[in-house]
Amino acid sequence: MSETPAQKAPAARSGRKTELPEHLKAYKGVWVFLEHDRGHVHQVSWELLGSARKLADTLGAEVAGVLMGGPDEPLAQYAQEAFGYGADLCYVVHDPVLKGYRNEPFTKGLTDLVNRFQPEIMLLGATTMGRDLAGSVATTLQTGLTADCTELNIDPVSRALAATRPTFGGSLLCTIMTLAYRPQMATVRPRVMSMPKKEATRSGRIVEVEIGFEESSIVTKLLDFIPDASSNKINLAYADIIVSGGKGMKNADNFQLIWNLARVLGAEVGASRPVVQAGWVEAERQVGQTGKTVRPKLYIACGISGAIQHRVGMESADAIVAINNDPNAPIFDFAHYGIVGNAMTVLPALTEAFRSHLA
Ligand code: FAD
Repeated sequence: MSETPAQKAPAARSGRKTELPEHLKAYKGVWVFLEHDRGHVHQVSWELLGSARKLADTLGAEVAGVLMGGPDEPLAQYAQEAFGYGADLCYVVHDPVLKGYRNEPFTKGLTDLVNRFQPEIMLLGATTMGRDLAGSVATTLQTGLTADCTELNIDPVSRALAATRPTFGGSLLCTIMTLAYRPQMATVRPRVMSMPKKEATRSGRIVEVEIGFEESSIVTKLLDFIPDASSNKINLAYADIIVSGGKGMKNADNFQLIWNLARVLGAEVGASRPVVQAGWVEAERQVGQTGKTVRPKLYIACGISGAIQHRVGMESADAIVAINNDPNAPIFDFAHYGIVGNAMTVLPALTEAFRSHLA
């Protein structure tokens, strides 16, 4: 159950206005930390630019991207892309110490930028890098950070960022506002926000910034990069089709039926948490509140009850097909198509039908 931020906002409910300290009133604009690694900007950065654009339009403010990287990294090219996704300007910091992510220099870089240019709101992806950076930047700046948001709005009374996120194990949604500190920070997981349309002709300003880094003052050294072979192969968050299995598959042998259908459809395999806990699949395949958020064109849920903690990770799929032998299973409350039946007989039949149809 969710109310609108305006209904929930404490300031709005009590009629009380929390006055922003005078020195923080100068903070303006919505920033997005643009995460990139080995030549690719993480797609969550573009998703966040879409949200930032809506927030900034409500506030009558500008959207800025922040790009930090080594001297040879194509940050200006990334900035051009950012303009297409809604940024008005990009702050660009090139420095040898920013080649490859390390918490210390990135925290210093981002906090220095904030202190110099004073954004009102700052958004980061809830990725491994974004979570690490957001926490240290928020504590350094002594401001508020709401992690893993599912919705971002502007509270009409206080004009503060109203950041909504699940709480109490996912059974409630709460809206959190940072009323007396700036910037207001939030992280959002990949695929939670929809991808904005790219306007290739849109342009913006690049603001090059120098920050005096000293390699000798940074204790962490980047010696080598060793890719994680298993997690690189699993691209659940951005898969177009996902066949997902739950505890209703009964055992690891039956779970093979999920793989069979996925192979025929060219789909990724997902799972509910009990399946991961039972060791039938890798943790990277878990969908839900403590797993991945996915937004595929098609999500086939087999033997999954549809508990709220699973639902929050997959309900944005364009089409949800549920296979469950219990007609009262909660998943049928939000699935677009339902098959009431034994997954162990329905799955082989579907796999065979698709195999002959697609052959
Ligand atoms: P069950 O609830 O056991 O449901 C099995 C379903 O299979 C039932 O609906 C049953 O009718 C059906 N079934 C049984 N036999 C068959 C058959 N032969 N054919 C077809 N259908 C059959 N869960 C997640 O998935 N992801 C998370 O990220 C997550 N995070 C959590 C975080 C917290 C803090 C907590 C407290 C819980 C979290 N959970 C998460 C667990 C969640 O609450 C549920 O327990 C879990 O999603 C249930 O998984 P399931 O539907 O596979 O299993």
